[in-house]
Amino acid sequence: MDVIDSHTHWGPSVSMGTEVTTEELLRQAEQSGVSRIVIFPFPSMALADEEINQKLLDETDRIRKFIPYYYIPETMKPIPKGKGYYGGKWHWMRGVQDCSSNYQVLKDPKLEEFIDTSERIDLPIVIEEEFAFTQTFIKKTKSLKIIIPHLGGLGGNPMDFLDTFKGRDNVYFDTALAGSDTIMKFINQIGHERILFGSDVPFGTMKWELEKVLSLPIGDDKKEWILSKNLRRLIGLSQIA
Ligand SMILES: [Zn+2]
Repeated sequence: MDVIDSHTHWGPSVSMGTEVTTEELLRQAEQSGVSRIVIFPFPSMALADEEINQKLLDETDRIRKFIPYYYIPETMKPIPKGKGYYGGKWHWMRGVQDCSSNYQVLKDPKLEEFIDTSERIDLPIVIEEEFAFTQTFIKKTKSLKIIIPHLGGLGGNPMDFLDTFKGRDNVYFDTALAGSDTIMKFINQIGHERILFGSDVPFGTMKWELEKVLSLPIGDDKKEWILSKNLRRLIGLSQIA
């Protein structure tokens, strides 16, 4: 079965003083049978030096398994076109990482422009913020393809995310670090078409996270969509690529 990991971190982390190397990601992919790997920079690295975005592209030139996502900087610059990015990562914009959203961002006139442009670029953006922030943000969008990581688990209660966004077809969720029961609640309510497999290496491992999805009580056809087809469709990546 074709498997793409839709959520990993690559490169150095300033805040953790560690680094996820290409070799480590390839080792885990080999061990788990993952064919392609979406990579984001670590937030602390991207905030310290925006050049990391370019380094992802350079590394992807060398390692064709990689699928680079652009880290949206605090200037809210949209994903640059024609560079080779397949998506974007929006992470606690101007807030406290993994902890509290900055609600001033929602009043910034640049936000409308960011959303407008991003809808035209039509690439998915992984957005992690508190639930209330995410709710206001998503109300401002029409077609923007949004991926909420961890089924919303780091921004609040996944059930709030599910109840509120189940009717929004442009909102997707990744399975990284989420419990199997919670994943099943999502699948039962919104189907398998808006769920993406992700490991969140180094916070999870590909092997464990993949085992979790493979063990879900659903048919192989549905697993295939979660493991690769939904993401391929989102980023426009053909089967043979
Ligand atoms: Zn992550």
